[in-house]
Amino acid sequence: MKNYQAEAGFLTGKTILVTGATNGIGKQAAITYASYGATVILSGRNTKKLEMVYDEIESLGFPQPAFIPLNLQNNDPEQYSQVADLIEAEFGVLDGLLLNASDLGLLSPIEHFDEETWYRVMQVNVNATFLLTKYCLPLIRNAKQGAIAFTSSGVGRQGRAYWGAYAVSKFATEGLMQTLADEVEKSDIIVNSINPGATRTNMRANAYPGEDPNSLPTPEDIMPAYLWLMDRSQNSRNGQAIDARDFIKN
Ligand code: NAP
Repeated sequence: MKNYQAEAGFLTGKTILVTGATNGIGKQAAITYASYGATVILSGRNTKKLEMVYDEIESLGFPQPAFIPLNLQNNDPEQYSQVADLIEAEFGVLDGLLLNASDLGLLSPIEHFDEETWYRVMQVNVNATFLLTKYCLPLIRNAKQGAIAFTSSGVGRQGRAYWGAYAVSKFATEGLMQTLADEVEKSDIIVNSINPGATRTNMRANAYPGEDPNSLPTPEDIMPAYLWLMDRSQNSRNGQAIDARDFIKN
């Protein structure tokens, strides 16, 4: 994995939807995909922030992106179906889907876990991820070699005290990834999950307020793994739980 080298321009002509593109890892992934030639569709709940990322990508001279505001707390399937309809009308296909947005919720023992927060985290991290995947899948089938990447976490592979709804939602994400990967096994689509590992973002700072952010890799540092997930010329793996750290050169 450490030897992986993305070829310049390998995403030219490809369309990739990135959720949670307004901040942290998702924002960096969108910019990085665009820098390799992709037309990125930025998704997020805050239109102003979406416009800022859009402007940044344009000012860098990368392909003109698109953006679709969507708050993943919304549990109406129609909203998700409309996102797919918009993409179909504009692009016809979807080559890549990076399901990156997540809600950390709060850290608390199960015994005292706030129910409303539990339901919200499950909606954003699991239900919305399912809905977007369900409605975008036909567009990904329309692409020649599609790729779907779900975002996991260390606590989605080994449970940890107090990580509550977030940890459980990431286990569910791994389950969704494995189930879908098995369903598309004989097709041209690949489906994997990525654990970014501890990364310098707002979410990490909220979870570990006492930690020195400078001790952590930046979103930019972990981009080789995110490129590989979408790189069908070098990646045909399906159903794999990937660790971004395995791609960082020492
Ligand atoms: P981040 O900087 O907090 O970014 C999270 C993104 O998700 C933001 O764009 C945020 O939008 C969006 N989001 C949250 N709730 C949303 C909602 N209801 N509707 C739409 N968008 C919503 O976090 P990050 O660290 O980059 O996390 C990216 C992914 O990596 C997540 O899946 C996270 O679980 C995973 N991860 C991160 C780490 C780490 O150390 N950073 C470790 C393991 C896994 P706003 O900009 O509007 O807030």
